[in-house]
Amino acid sequence: MLDNLTQRLAKVVKTMRGEARLTETNTAEMLREVRMALLEADVALPAVRDFIARVKEKALGEEVISSLSPGQALVGVVQRELAALMGADLGPEAAQLSFAQQPPAIILMAGLQGVGKTTTVGKLAKYLKEEKKKKVLTVSADVYRPAAIAQLQSVTAQVGADFFPSTAQDKPVDIALAALDWAKKHYHDVLIIDTAGRLGIDEEMMKEIAAVHGAVKPIETLFVVDAMLGQDAINTAKAFNDALPLTGIVLTKLDGDSRGGAALSVRHITGKPIKFAGVSEKLDGLEAFDPTRMANRVLG
Ligand code: GDP
Repeated sequence: MLDNLTQRLAKVVKTMRGEARLTETNTAEMLREVRMALLEADVALPAVRDFIARVKEKALGEEVISSLSPGQALVGVVQRELAALMGADLGPEAAQLSFAQQPPAIILMAGLQGVGKTTTVGKLAKYLKEEKKKKVLTVSADVYRPAAIAQLQSVTAQVGADFFPSTAQDKPVDIALAALDWAKKHYHDVLIIDTAGRLGIDEEMMKEIAAVHGAVKPIETLFVVDAMLGQDAINTAKAFNDALPLTGIVLTKLDGDSRGGAALSVRHITGKPIKFAGVSEKLDGLEAFDPTRMANRVLG
């Protein structure tokens, strides 16, 4: 078992031997422990560096310096800063979905294959239907894997939403436009478009999803990322954020044993709010993202 951050910092404080005050030296030592804890939680290095710089600035400020137990005060700074970076400073509205003034509101799903996109479409459809009382239509623009279209049809049926059929012979943009037309004619409040994922980032895929985005102009473009991805999350997040105007992030598989460092990496690179967390394979396994809880998880 790894020590959590509080235990690690307590050890540093003990070795200070009567140094009640924070100095450049003992602060550096404590920040090294914070850095190790973040790297062990799989936060990507650029995000760790940025975070440490912010904490250092605060730590050398009045609040910690004058504290009777600088170790504890530093833990407090780390916790608050981490929660803020996770999105606590964006306010609770940041995690809400936006709806178009003129229905249907279009939600475009983006992400690599296997991260949980299709499952998340089912979860979102269920949430929108049951919690928000919306009439939901789903469609798959994944023309490369007929199994993906069938999978979306199955999850959509399980949650009792409507499904717009597509085939591998259609073009993604045509599929999206036809589904939009259908949604308008049948008074759907929300249209969720699932897209193809690749095993790695691929230029053709980025062009294709950007074309779908341009054709239907979604109000929400959600980047779905697997919490188990760890350090790699930052590269895929950068590629999708460069290709598309993302409006939010869904972090899946938080029920796994990852410490969730991907959350900080993805926030660092995109600046976009994490709106939801996937916490099970089941279609009710979607939660509103909680920045403070996530910060505590990363710190162990
Ligand atoms: P896609 O290729 O991105 O559409 O991914 P899928 O929706 O097919 O999901 C890939 C796998 O991840 C499936 O086995 C899902 O059941 C699983 N999955 C999706 N979301 C979660 C989650 O939040 N927790 C867990 N444990 N598994 C998930």
